[in-house]
Amino acid sequence: MKFHIMTFGCQMNVHDSQWLTAALESRGWEQAPEEEAQVYILNTCSVREKPEQKVYTELGRIGVYLKRDPNIFAAVGGCVGQQVGKAFFSRFPFVKLVFGTDGIANAPNALESLAEGAEERIALLDFVDVYLEREVPQDASRVEHATRQAFVNIMQGCDNFCTYCVVPYTRGRQKSRHPELVVEECRKLVQAGVREITLLGQNVNSYGLDKGGVGVTFAQLLHMVAEIPGLDRLRFTTSHPKDIAPEVIRAFGELDNLCPSLHLPMQAGSDDVLRRMGRKYDCKRYLDIVKSLREARPDLSLTTDLIVAFPGEAEKDFQQTLEMVEQVGFESSFSFKYSDRPGVAAVKMTPKVAPDVAADRLLRLQNLQNDITRKCLKKRVGTEDNVLVEGKSRKQEDEGVYWRGRDSAGRVVNFRFDEGVDLEGMMVPVRIVVAKKHSLVGERTGEPW
Ligand code: SF4
Repeated sequence: MKFHIMTFGCQMNVHDSQWLTAALESRGWEQAPEEEAQVYILNTCSVREKPEQKVYTELGRIGVYLKRDPNIFAAVGGCVGQQVGKAFFSRFPFVKLVFGTDGIANAPNALESLAEGAEERIALLDFVDVYLEREVPQDASRVEHATRQAFVNIMQGCDNFCTYCVVPYTRGRQKSRHPELVVEECRKLVQAGVREITLLGQNVNSYGLDKGGVGVTFAQLLHMVAEIPGLDRLRFTTSHPKDIAPEVIRAFGELDNLCPSLHLPMQAGSDDVLRRMGRKYDCKRYLDIVKSLREARPDLSLTTDLIVAFPGEAEKDFQQTLEMVEQVGFESSFSFKYSDRPGVAAVKMTPKVAPDVAADRLLRLQNLQNDITRKCLKKRVGTEDNVLVEGKSRKQEDEGVYWRGRDSAGRVVNFRFDEGVDLEGMMVPVRIVVAKKHSLVGERTGEPW
């Protein structure tokens, strides 16, 4: 069977799609361009409104291929799959499988059985209490690409119920994976050549604090993974500020291979808005965490998520967000206008912020962020670091070949290297010589390794 997979949304979806691809390939299925596929898989996201609409648009577009082959069919997974569920079957009759994030473990078998015609339609929408281990595709090393970076799930779901968020409804309650299985997967990946691992979960700081927990905390898990011989870089995402333990903060100073970067979603810089968002921390607590983190690791690069125009956000609240962003000095941020998601508590909160006011706030915030990002990148000029190479740069300037990779904090670095050498997946020591708007330019200072 030829399949085509489309992924929307977060890193967890990207990782889920990589796993699904490998699981299907190990059954003899083949990835194909959209025009040739027999099965279409949409791994969806409903955190914001636009990605959800995009799913409907995409399904409408794919429907055209029925003229080429009336037997083609589609599967919708991820958050929109979970939320809209079986309603997809009537709206788009060629959708034969819907699955949520708890159902994905069984999606390869379901797709196989649909392709064989053994079943008409399948819905994998039940939530489970414990993390469902997924099959390990035979060629596990191929799951992750040649850049030698890999993502490893440590948990699924979330128990926090922030008032704007659909995750607890679409990905279910938090369930941690057994630490030994996490370490085992990481070890296998490192043995297969992976150099950088990102531990993934909706809220990694509360790892182990659910039914799946076996008394191993997230800080302990970090130590266990960091100890794997040959692992050059370790990262994790996402972190909820309210749950970050002092041991996790200390780990930034203790573990050499734990990268000096942390994505710590702040969401707003007004205590009032944070309270209505149900975030369970205030600005003081957030700033205390930042202080401790910088004591543990002075070169730590902090990034964040921000929502503007949450219901009831007044100009003074927004000003406080701008002040916090400036005070913390985030290297970059993902910022969005609040939008109502069905079923969440904030839908009923008023007053809603007028769309033009929301757009203006977002623009002001993003302008401020761009200034701060530029300053942060400028500070890197003259510093040295290793770059893990991801591929050739799109831009080939003057002579030589330009490569693109990431420094230890995850910043994009481009640098020139002699022609005829394949650097993908190599670590190259560089000195930063130029700071651009969103990236850095370096020059090589040593041999690739
Ligand atoms: S912590 Fe809040 S924002 Fe993050 S996934 Fe859980 S409910 Fe959503």
